[in-house]
Amino acid sequence: MIQSNAESFLHVEKWKADFPSLVASFSTKNGGVSMGPYQSLNCGLHVNDHRADVVTNRTLLGTDCDAPITKWVMADQVHGDTIKYVTSDDVGKGSTHYEDALAKTDGLWTTEKNVFLSLCYADCVPIYYMDPVSNFAGVAHAGWKGTVKDIAGSMIRVAENAGVDSTNLQVAIGPSIGPCCYLVDDYVINKVNDSLIKEVPNVYHKLEEGQYRLDLKMVNYQLLLQAGLNEKQIITSSYCTSCEEQLFFSHRRDQGVTGRMVAVIGWKE
Ligand SMILES: [Zn+2]
Repeated sequence: MIQSNAESFLHVEKWKADFPSLVASFSTKNGGVSMGPYQSLNCGLHVNDHRADVVTNRTLLGTDCDAPITKWVMADQVHGDTIKYVTSDDVGKGSTHYEDALAKTDGLWTTEKNVFLSLCYADCVPIYYMDPVSNFAGVAHAGWKGTVKDIAGSMIRVAENAGVDSTNLQVAIGPSIGPCCYLVDDYVINKVNDSLIKEVPNVYHKLEEGQYRLDLKMVNYQLLLQAGLNEKQIITSSYCTSCEEQLFFSHRRDQGVTGRMVAVIGWKE
């Protein structure tokens, strides 16, 4: 993902060039009105920021990236692997009030235009899915828990079950915490190993007994290959949300009190 002209979001350069009617954006922390630890473009309603400020931030971002928040669908994210199908009947859910977000959901998909799927992040991996033939759009929220539950591969299977030819799918793995900043223990590493059918290098690096650097983006990349995609179908962002303090909120770096970025994907009319 690269920086766009607007300071408020990044987009996938290749997709932007090839598919002008696609919105696939990842917000930054800049260009909003929130204060304190949420300065300034906090897009999370559930983090103790002022609701009116968050709605203002989302509205600004929606205008910038050409996806108005009246057309967003949002979720109450719980680090699970539940993926829900949404339509124009769902637009606006969760976009201004957390209470009407889709309950206990970490993945969204649609084949309708003008439905913008929007999930919140601060270190977890945003995974964008799209198919220009069927107008499939999907987004997944993959922290380590969602990752080892294989939400990445589940979305491919959901698309296939909906009649999408998975050879047409294109996937982008967005900015998340990188192996440079993500230390985990044996418990997590064992779950990662269980999720991968075969052993792959570069997924994690052992530092000492019981401590590892984990590359969550790489695990999800491998899970996408495991689900049948090939390398050419996947783009991976090199951004680390913890390293890039000027661009992103980071749950780990900011010790839990911080804002949220939002991933938005959908096809415009
Ligand atoms: Zn880092």
